[in-house]
Amino acid sequence: MVASRSHTQLLDRIKIVLVNTSHPGNIGATARAMANMGLSKLVLVQPLEYPSMQATARAAGADDILDDAEIFPTLARAVADCSHVYGTTARLRSITWPEYSPQELAEQIRGNQGEKDIALVFGRERSGLTNEELDLCQALVHIPVDDRHTSLNLASAVMVVAFSIRSALLLEPRESKIGKKHASPVATSEQLQFYFDSLNNLLNKISFYKGNATKVMRKLRRLYYKAEPTKEDVQILLGTLAAINAELEKGED
Ligand code: SAH
Repeated sequence: MVASRSHTQLLDRIKIVLVNTSHPGNIGATARAMANMGLSKLVLVQPLEYPSMQATARAAGADDILDDAEIFPTLARAVADCSHVYGTTARLRSITWPEYSPQELAEQIRGNQGEKDIALVFGRERSGLTNEELDLCQALVHIPVDDRHTSLNLASAVMVVAFSIRSALLLEPRESKIGKKHASPVATSEQLQFYFDSLNNLLNKISFYKGNATKVMRKLRRLYYKAEPTKEDVQILLGTLAAINAELEKGED
C-alpha cells in the first residue's frame, strides 16, 4: 500500500534512534523493518560495531537507509533538533513518566502538525536506556507483551512501533482529537535541555535542593514536557531565570 503525500511527509519526520547497539545485525534488521514501514531516517548513537557486513546482510536491500544513517556521540546531540522525543522501554520505570502503548503513540504522531523531526529512541540490547537518556524523552512507549517475556528483540520492537504508526496513518482519517496547532513552533529538545540546565544552575545557586537533586529535576522535567512548551514559551521561561539571576547578582554586590 502506498502512503499519501501528507502521510509520507509525516513518516519522513520520524527518526529511529538506536542507542549503543551491540549487534550490527540488529542495525541491519532495523533498517529492513524501517524500509518495510516507509521510514527512512536512521540515527545511531555510539554503535559498538558499525559499519559492518552483518548489518548490510541483514538489511536485505535497505542499504540506502544504512548509507544515510547519521552517527552521534550522545543521545542529546542526536535528538537536539527534534520537537518530540519518545523513549521505548521493556520495563516499567520507578518514576511515573507518561507512558503510551504503540497505538497511543501512533495516535499522538498522527495528530502532530509540526515541522520538526520526531525521535523514537531504542535502547541497548542488554540494558535498555539509562535514566539520564530517559530524561531526554517527553514520554515512554511500552509494547504490552507477555509478563513472563517482556523484552523484545530490538529490531522487532522497532517493527511493532513502526507498524502501529503506519497502520494509524493509513487506516484512520487524517483529523485527530489529539492534534494541536501551535502558534509558535514546539521547542526543540536542545532548547528544552538548555532551559533545564539553566533552571538547574539557578536552583543550585539558591541551594534549593535539600535531598536528591536528580529526582527533583526529573519531576520538573516531566511537568514541563507535559505542557509541550513552544519556542516562545521557552524564551519567556529563560527570561524569568535571567531576571531572577540579575536580582541575585544585585544582592551579591
Ligand atoms: N533488558 C533490557 C531489554 C532491552 S531490549 C531492558 O530491560 O531494558 C532493547 C530495546 O528494545 C529496549 O531498550 C527498547 O528500546 C526495545 N524494547 C524491547 N522490548 C520492548 C517492549 N516491550 N516495549 C518497548 N520497547 C521494547
